[in-house]
Amino acid sequence: RWTAVDQYVLQHLHPARTPYASALQYALDHSKTNGLPDIAVSPLQGKFNALQCRLLGVRHALEIGTLGGYISIWLAILNADLRITSLEIDAKHAKVAREAIKHAGLSDRIEVLLGPALETLPKLQEEITLGKREKFGFVFIDADKDNNLPYYQQAVPMCVSRACIIVDNVVRKGNVAKAELAETDSRVEGARRVIEGMGRDERVDACLMQTVGEKNYDGFLISISFRCSAL
Ligand code: SAM
Repeated sequence: RWTAVDQYVLQHLHPARTPYASALQYALDHSKTNGLPDIAVSPLQGKFNALQCRLLGVRHALEIGTLGGYISIWLAILNADLRITSLEIDAKHAKVAREAIKHAGLSDRIEVLLGPALETLPKLQEEITLGKREKFGFVFIDADKDNNLPYYQQAVPMCVSRACIIVDNVVRKGNVAKAELAETDSRVEGARRVIEGMGRDERVDACLMQTVGEKNYDGFLISISFRCSAL
């Protein structure tokens, strides 16, 4: 039923006749042809995040976990002034992503950096400190889930005020609420650590949305830097 709703909605909100639909489909097809796992965000999630960037007027976005470049292409296609820095550990994934990005004509705005994100992030921080790289207005964390919290902690100082940081796949079919699973499933533990870490972080306001759709039952964590209260 969830997939049927996604498919119905897509016909109207992301129809195949949309000029950019073929570039996005190419990215998915190119990943599949090259044997990449089918773990990119759904089309509706891709568009939702692209619209978040538009709402915030984001100029520079960070993605942790590129895979085949699918969501990066979504963000760039719907935001003409947006540049994206995307981090990927797997050389084959990075190559396939760069090919899909080139096919979409977006190589000048999406940069894929190869290497473990925990090693790349401090280099980005250094470049930002030296004024060689612009701070981020949007961050999408979607890599090895056990490192969610360190990724988040490293991303916050690299963000502009009112940046949006999203951590994907934190509900894990509801398993995030089962504390005992954190001991045996590092991805559940990673989800719980970042939720609890954000909750303690006085710099941000955060929320979590549970989702269903063609990617089953999951959800994302969203935080906005920096905390603001009218009271
Ligand atoms: N965000 C992508 C999308 O929706 O189009 C999907 C990303 S996929 C779920 C996770 C990706 O993170 C994989 O390509 C994987 O190789 C990458 N990854 C895993 N561990 C990583 C690490 N330590 N540093 C950087 N990338 C990593």
